[in-house]
Amino acid sequence: MSERVAIVTGAARGIGLATTRLFLEEGVRVAMVDRDAPALREAAAGLDGVLALERDVSRPEDAVAIIAETVAAFGRIDHLVNNAGVADFGPIEETDFARWRRVMETNLDGVFLCSQAAFPALRKTRGTIVNIASISGLRASTLRVAYGTSKAGVIHLTQQQAVELGEYGIRANCVAPGPVRTKLAMAVHSPEIIAAYHDALPLNRYGSEEEIARAIVFLSSDKASFVTGQTLSVDGGFEATGIGLP
Ligand code: NAD
Repeated sequence: MSERVAIVTGAARGIGLATTRLFLEEGVRVAMVDRDAPALREAAAGLDGVLALERDVSRPEDAVAIIAETVAAFGRIDHLVNNAGVADFGPIEETDFARWRRVMETNLDGVFLCSQAAFPALRKTRGTIVNIASISGLRASTLRVAYGTSKAGVIHLTQQQAVELGEYGIRANCVAPGPVRTKLAMAVHSPEIIAAYHDALPLNRYGSEEEIARAIVFLSSDKASFVTGQTLSVDGGFEATGIGLP
């Protein structure tokens, strides 16, 4: 059994839950963070070696509490996975400030706040950060002014973290998933977008939660010990096509 401890935000379902399961298979204990209390309780119920924390990553006091409660329960933090996210697709003219802030609060502020709070614990273990961006953060497109901008911010924030924290042995990397059929994606992918993705992706299909989780666990592990500041697209080849997002 490994001594390692991971925090996974947005762990109640989707990519975060798949990541939790893969860490557990490796013997890593996991603090599962989510603001959806019923979904979190249900997800954590069948899992051994987890701590369920009902918290909102966009609140500074919650970010501090996530770290304190994890250290109190497990004694250390080796891996932080900033995965909690929300999506909002809409034209610029219809994206009012409230919609913009809702996306930024979770997708960008949440990554900043949880990472900031975790630094002292990660310094002790020479730990890792993996931030979840999106192919929408790598390429501008219609409908994604808030979502795409937040994810581009996550990619840059990851580079800032890698550059500043390397001297403490902390590695920071980013995973940029292509489309996966989670609740988040299905709320914003119209039938036309789904069909267009199938045509556009060289692998002609959506990815699975576990296919994204494998990249997250790899970047967190010692197998990636010389990798930092990188964005790994896990996208069925979409990035390589050079074409626009549907
Ligand atoms: P999901 O909706 O299945 O899971 C996201 C989880 O995050 C939910 O359980 C939700 O309750 C939680 N969450 C949201 N805001 C939170 C907050 N402020 N505090 C705590 N928990 C919060 O979505 P998913 O598709 O698994 O998304 C995971 C990450 O992957 C997100 O960052 C998303 O932007 C990114 N992503 C997803 C796709 C895709 O196609 N599914 C593509 C690219 C990137």
